[in-house]
Amino acid sequence: MNNKEITYVLHHYKEEDLPFGAVSPPIFQTSIFSFKSFHDFSRALNDETNNYLYTRGNNPTVNILEEKIAALEQGEKAKFFASGVAAIASSVLAFVRSGDHIISVKDCYSWTQTLFERYLSRFGIETTFVEGTNVDEIEDMIKPNTKIIYLESPTTFTFKLQNLRQIAVVAKKQGIRTIVDNSWATPYFQQPINMGIDLVVHSASKYLGGHSDLVAGVVIGKRKEIEHIFKTEFLNIGAVIDPFTAWLILRGLRTLHIRMQRHFESTMKVTKYLSSHPKVERVIYPFLNSHPQFELAKRQMSGGSGLFSIKLITGNINRISKFVDKLRYFKKAVSWGGYESLVFPYVISHPDAPKDLRSLVRLHIGLEEPEMLIKDLENALKDL
Ligand SMILES: *Cc1c(COP(=O)(O)O)cnc(C)c1O
Repeated sequence: MNNKEITYVLHHYKEEDLPFGAVSPPIFQTSIFSFKSFHDFSRALNDETNNYLYTRGNNPTVNILEEKIAALEQGEKAKFFASGVAAIASSVLAFVRSGDHIISVKDCYSWTQTLFERYLSRFGIETTFVEGTNVDEIEDMIKPNTKIIYLESPTTFTFKLQNLRQIAVVAKKQGIRTIVDNSWATPYFQQPINMGIDLVVHSASKYLGGHSDLVAGVVIGKRKEIEHIFKTEFLNIGAVIDPFTAWLILRGLRTLHIRMQRHFESTMKVTKYLSSHPKVERVIYPFLNSHPQFELAKRQMSGGSGLFSIKLITGNINRISKFVDKLRYFKKAVSWGGYESLVFPYVISHPDAPKDLRSLVRLHIGLEEPEMLIKDLENALKDL
């Protein structure tokens, strides 16, 4: 998709015919939909996938958003959920049963790890965790009962990539479904379905929403697969997005292309600055040529977002906390993907982490002036 097509999707697609000539889509704040006849009522009840019956199934505001995201990801259909973890859990659950096996990247999102380790294991579903950087390693772990290869490229603390094209080929040969979390790159920079991946999941709480004011998630893929997720997990678990949240995401998406471009440009400036800083041992960002998978990053993504990690020269928790407290413009908070800059030191959630991880600090570069952020970092690093 080129820039012209992207802006067509973000600003026009599925909005040509809004009631009363409205420019902004209405928020259909209704739980139920009524019918003109017994016949129409009966048809909707028997085919909820394709009708408006009840907002736990479909809602017109949500559907505009789903059509746009499906188009952006080059998939046939999308389904939005109340959160990213709901979208991930439902997409996995819809395709496994007791006795099945999953292969997942080791450094994926923490609650995705918990889903595999603590939740699915209760139902006799076993997961093998892999580094993900080596396709042969993944192929070696495949068993006759492997149903899903779960990916997150790049991972969002260690920024390890997986070769999506090659893994898709290996998985297809053996009839294994591939799922990738594309929250970091967004469809603006990476379109996994075009590389052969079956399902794409997102935390829309990150860049798709883009303003740190909502929680939501989405899965995109082939019509048949999304309808299967809809009929099994979505309707039953009921982690439904509300129409107003969907509307906020529609509003956030208007500027997705502008925001992502700006995150990328600013992050290149900041990561280049930090790369030569004596208090920083390493900057871990896929679009720096110091990244071990820089070539792969350029092959499968057209740019990078605003999230990366640095390794400081110290893993001392007191020194790290002093550095973090000296930052003025980086908010101390979880998550990322909004307009604002953030800092998250790894030791805050992993106080017993091994030595080489203790010095890891994750930064999110927001939409502020990068020079202001660089000055802020310079000042905080001075006394480290
Ligand atoms: C935040 C996040 C999630 C979970 O999404 P929620 O919307 O918080 O439920 C999943 N994957 C990644 C990579 C994330 O950063």
